[in-house]
Amino acid sequence: MSDPLALLEGLFLHSPVPYAIFDREGHCRLSNPAYRAMFGSVPPPEYSLFRDELVAKMGLDLLLHRAFEGETVQTPTIWYDVKELQHIEVTQAHRIAISCTCFPLACDAGEVQYIALAYKDVTAELMAREAEHLERRRLYQLLTKAPLAIDLLRGQDLRFEFASPLLKRLLGGRELVGRRLLDAVPDIAPDLVTLCLNVMKTGERVVAREYALTIDYAGKGHVETRYWNLSHEPLFDEQGRVDGIVTFAFEVTEQVLARHAVEHQQRWLEAVLDLMPMPVVMAEPNTGVITFSNDAADRLYGGPMPTNVSASEYGEIFHVTDMQGRRLGPELLPSARAARGERLDGMEVMWHTKAGQFVLSICSEVLPAMHGHPEVTLLPFLDITRLKSVEQRLQDAIRVRDEFLSVASHELKTPLTVLGLRLQSFARAALADPDSDWAQRHARDVEGMLRQVMRLADLVNGLLDVSRIGTGRLNLEYEQVDLRALVQEVAARFQPEAERAECDVEVSGTDVIVGAWDRMRLEQVVTNLVSNALKYGAGHPVRVHVEVEEGRARLRVRDEGIGISAEAQARIFHKFERAVSERNYGGLGLGLYVTRTLVEAMEGVIHVDSALGAGATFTVELPLCPSGPVAVAIKAIKELAS
Ligand code: ADP
Repeated sequence: MSDPLALLEGLFLHSPVPYAIFDREGHCRLSNPAYRAMFGSVPPPEYSLFRDELVAKMGLDLLLHRAFEGETVQTPTIWYDVKELQHIEVTQAHRIAISCTCFPLACDAGEVQYIALAYKDVTAELMAREAEHLERRRLYQLLTKAPLAIDLLRGQDLRFEFASPLLKRLLGGRELVGRRLLDAVPDIAPDLVTLCLNVMKTGERVVAREYALTIDYAGKGHVETRYWNLSHEPLFDEQGRVDGIVTFAFEVTEQVLARHAVEHQQRWLEAVLDLMPMPVVMAEPNTGVITFSNDAADRLYGGPMPTNVSASEYGEIFHVTDMQGRRLGPELLPSARAARGERLDGMEVMWHTKAGQFVLSICSEVLPAMHGHPEVTLLPFLDITRLKSVEQRLQDAIRVRDEFLSVASHELKTPLTVLGLRLQSFARAALADPDSDWAQRHARDVEGMLRQVMRLADLVNGLLDVSRIGTGRLNLEYEQVDLRALVQEVAARFQPEAERAECDVEVSGTDVIVGAWDRMRLEQVVTNLVSNALKYGAGHPVRVHVEVEEGRARLRVRDEGIGISAEAQARIFHKFERAVSERNYGGLGLGLYVTRTLVEAMEGVIHVDSALGAGATFTVELPLCPSGPVAVAIKAIKELAS
């Protein structure tokens, strides 16, 4: 048999258990390789257990003394790092968690001289325990700090095993843990209890959104409703049976009440809009999906308008055409156009519905998000069906009137011309033999009749011009015209009439103003303005002034007559518009309309400066040479002629 000491030495050297043997001074006398592997170094000779600051700090020295007194003692687990020791200097070492068994070794005269320490490296276990502890602490913090009310109900009688501080606070600080749900919160809604029991029965998770729970939360006799997002999770035991429920409750009262307030406002607004006679539709910006239609809109549709339908389906649901009857696709529908950000300003469409066929004038406006309401596109529209049919009837009436005037003036012109010619020959005959009996008796009558016929002819010509303008048959014949000379001629022709009206007609301004104009039409312009000045400024002087400035001729006809109010000035250049009563002044209200049309045809402008009772000044400005194709032709002819 081998030497037992050698065997013991082998055991000591190869044992996986770290061992060290210390003497009464605490110096290490022996350590095995497992010890070195565990600590990273061996204790230097100066090391002493009794000077070890870490041992002292943990109060282990007392245990060691007990071992020296013959006891086998077990130390608690401690973190140990040789590098932290002050009385020795060691650089090669690890931080480890250890627990030791200390037992006495050799005794000498009843006194323990040596003790052995068998070490256990529990670093991994301790770290795992600490990590788990940390994890738990975090979880607990999460559960207690999160704005979530959490509880754990165990067993079929739903007994509180855990209640988060928030839940406790919400329930007025009442005691929960250990009590049954129905005992702790007696006024809990029965359906919530049923819901929990169902989770217990089925093992299936239940989620409830915005659950309204009306109870006396604080237990002080004040019942109130709060809203919760609830999640009930089943808990299972080792056999897979449901033995509890964890409930996570997140309070959403504020959000729900805010939404309710917005919804109430919305309903109020919708009620107001329903009372309005004007049809109004609301649509979602971007998508164009209709979210609301008021009663007036529904009446046109012939029932409640389909809302919240995908915008692409509106093409099928709504039969909308343009005014020519062409059907509009979904992209062109007013709501879709408005949704794309287009601002509709009286878009006219025909809407064919169960209730009939309507002509609509549609506007749109985007109302930005405000007061909790999202952005919305508003589409108010007018049913202009009747307006359109009246407009159509009016247009028809105007067309009939114009046709009648055109025919009548043509028919009147021929006999008038004949009458005029006959009267002129009578007048000439009277002039040739003024002393004749016939001339003595009829010359003045003939002159009067001729004047009336001329007036009649002027009126008929005015009507003919209007009909020409209306049918686009106003052709201009450009030629070289001296405006000053033309004005002079017109003034001379008006001399007898001016005398009758007791007006002095004075012509002033630039001597020669030559331009390319239609002579007859320009003469008509001057004639109309001078004749109006004599008519409405009788008894006062009339001044006609011509001048030229920057390639434009200016003609100004000024009288000191009755003047024109600002309101009337805006309309007298239109057809049949007059600012005087028929009783005081005869006329058809066509002269200025024809004048403006002629001036504009020659690329000019006309305007009036006047005030009631302060006379009137009509100013015509004409380019000396119009820019249109006709003018180009005139220039070419002139160049050829020169
Ligand atoms: P008419 O003279 O036949 O009524 P016009 O078209 O020439 O038609 O004129 C339209 C209206 O403008 C007149 O009815 C009159 O009220 C007003 N008006 C035109 N010229 C003058 C003027 N010189 N002074 C005051 N009012 C005028």
